[in-house]
Amino acid sequence: TEPLVQVKDLSKYFPVTRGALVTRKIGDIKAVDRISFDIYDGETLGLVGESGCGKTTTGRVLLKLIEPSEGQIIYNDQDITLLNKKDMSPLRREMQIIFQDPYASLNPRLTVGEAIGEPLVAHRLASRAEAKERVLELLRVVGLAPFHYNRYPHEFSGGQRQRVGIARSLVMNPKFIVADEPVSALDVSIQAQIINLLQHIQADYALTFLFISHDLGVVRHLSDRVVVMYLGRLAELGNTEQLFAEPKHPYTQALLSAVPSVKKRKTKQRMLLTGDVPTPFNPPQGCRFHTRCPMVMPECKEVEPAWHDTGDGHFVACHLFN
Ligand code: SF4
Repeated sequence: TEPLVQVKDLSKYFPVTRGALVTRKIGDIKAVDRISFDIYDGETLGLVGESGCGKTTTGRVLLKLIEPSEGQIIYNDQDITLLNKKDMSPLRREMQIIFQDPYASLNPRLTVGEAIGEPLVAHRLASRAEAKERVLELLRVVGLAPFHYNRYPHEFSGGQRQRVGIARSLVMNPKFIVADEPVSALDVSIQAQIINLLQHIQADYALTFLFISHDLGVVRHLSDRVVVMYLGRLAELGNTEQLFAEPKHPYTQALLSAVPSVKKRKTKQRMLLTGDVPTPFNPPQGCRFHTRCPMVMPECKEVEPAWHDTGDGHFVACHLFN
């Protein structure tokens, strides 16, 4: 399979300034720092890490909802890094996002039907009647009865709103969807329904997904491959089976051992993450994880580990594997 999205040495830094009248830059928050990976056509790539690790920023930079500071984004063999808004516009249709809180992105004054169909009308891709027909079809796809067309967002439950969010992400016939914590705000019983829905639409519309979540169970269920992020850098990437069976990076091991095992195997030692995540403003030298790593060695504090292919497309950034 070919990569649909290629990320090369991508960074997003947010400058930090001090002073009210005369502002002076004192440094950068390195939200995303020189990351590289591919997303293959038709796959779901899971992106995991604790909050503040740069997952959300990564998703938004990939879609160019925020501009990257450095590096490249190649979409469908086209370098989109420097494309302006106008040139991005036709691609924008193919690249969509599903938010954690769809309510925040829905105009409360539009009916849900109008909100879903709005991009079609705004881009003059359909008449109002055609847009309505398309929206009614999508409501059916996401499991909402036609009468919902004329209802307003506040009349919907959390799960229904996320169905609306999914319908809206589909209206422009996308190829690539970034789903940013799409089930995290939902009750567990509803989560399963939405996850099933995402799986169905991926198969039916041959979509490629970047699935961002802090929930390893959900990521494991949905993803073909998983990439683990820590403090703006990538720690590990591998196919889901392999990564969950044999995590290599000490950070991945710690994340996985914090997940309660279904089989309750008591023999497995739980590895606890101690200490807070350091801030991405002036992150630790050397390996970013060294302040919390149980395997830390002297060189970890000085030298940043390389992104190393350990075979079979399994990548890890840790001196234990270099
Ligand atoms: Fe731990 Fe060193 Fe590996 Fe970083 S490079 S994860 S500090 S062993």
